[in-house]
Amino acid sequence: MANVVLKNVTKIYDGSAKAVDSANITIEDKEFVVFVGPSGCGKSTTLRMIAGLEDITSGEIFIDGDLVNNIPPKDRNIAMVFQNYALYPHMSVYDNMAFGLKIRKLDKTEIDDRVREAAKILDIEKLLDRKPKQLSGGQRQRVAVGRAIVRNPKVFLFDEPLSNLDAKLRVQMRAEIIQLHDRLQATIIYVTHDQVEAMTMGDRIVVMKDGIVQQIGSPLYLYNQPVNRFVAGFIGSPPMNFIKVDVVETAGKISIKEGPCTLFPDEKHTDLLKPYVGKQVIFGIRPEDLPYDEKNAASSLKAVITVSEPLGSEIHIWAKTENTQIISRVPPHHLFHIGENIAFIPVMEKARYFDVESGLSILPVSVVEERG
Ligand code: ADP
Repeated sequence: MANVVLKNVTKIYDGSAKAVDSANITIEDKEFVVFVGPSGCGKSTTLRMIAGLEDITSGEIFIDGDLVNNIPPKDRNIAMVFQNYALYPHMSVYDNMAFGLKIRKLDKTEIDDRVREAAKILDIEKLLDRKPKQLSGGQRQRVAVGRAIVRNPKVFLFDEPLSNLDAKLRVQMRAEIIQLHDRLQATIIYVTHDQVEAMTMGDRIVVMKDGIVQQIGSPLYLYNQPVNRFVAGFIGSPPMNFIKVDVVETAGKISIKEGPCTLFPDEKHTDLLKPYVGKQVIFGIRPEDLPYDEKNAASSLKAVITVSEPLGSEIHIWAKTENTQIISRVPPHHLFHIGENIAFIPVMEKARYFDVESGLSILPVSVVEERG
């Protein structure tokens, strides 16, 4: 297996804006790294440049220490699994898996050993004689993964491999790919637009937007210490609430206000908010850090309930403050009604603060999580 290093990698398609802008990413040997971001953010282009399917406009890509900029895809020792599986319809599962090895002129027994071993790992031994059209979506996906495994590559690249599957199968295949990674001890780079897939599968996540890497870190690092408002809003479901507030200092004490509501930031945040006194910031709070308060305390976020969604294990309360629609996740102890007044007391030590203009976190955070 191998590590993959991208240094200042940029891609400009003919006559277009930068699809990928100076990406610097290090993927360690045996690591499972997920590239995530909205459609068009440059994730597939980055993956395809690693695979060698797309020219690099500038920058360098190293696989296992070797500069691969000018190495053709077939010599990079990587295997790619695509969203549409790309199986040959007229070939059996066995031949689909064996095809790439035959082209490489591997010995027949070697090919047979590798195909049967991969089929065993993926539990598709009984399907080896079938044609792709005789398989379910999940089985086809397994064959596509099998075709990658038999090649014994240094790096596996997955491009939205689960997008064509229904929700239930997606959850199952997600678990299978995690187990596969554990079993193969392989370096895997996985592209998805689905933040849940990113959170559940990745050792580390690379969040991209508009061709630019926003932040790189473990799922919980990105969840708890987002570098900007975009990452904060993209990772987590339901998403973080954002409320534009005035920063006020009264008798030496910092508070934040939206309309009639006043909140007092946690002590560890007040010094960082001081430069913003007299200005506005974005107050960010996750739905689970927004419990409601039955006593209606003075320093709370007062709102009117717009929707209540009882999910069994919890309730999502949608509510409107003076200017902002917010959402809170609370235990299912109480029934809430549309139009009811409610007051939330945010867990202020969990709050995040963002600059209104730049969207950057006001609390210090590193773009790339430092690892011990
Ligand atoms: P993602 O995988 O995140 O959805 P892509 O990497 O496919 O994004 O695309 C990044 C940007 O590059 C988009 O603006 C897209 O329109 C553009 N792009 C992708 N492929 C091509 C191409 N072959 N020619 C021109 N522009 C492209």
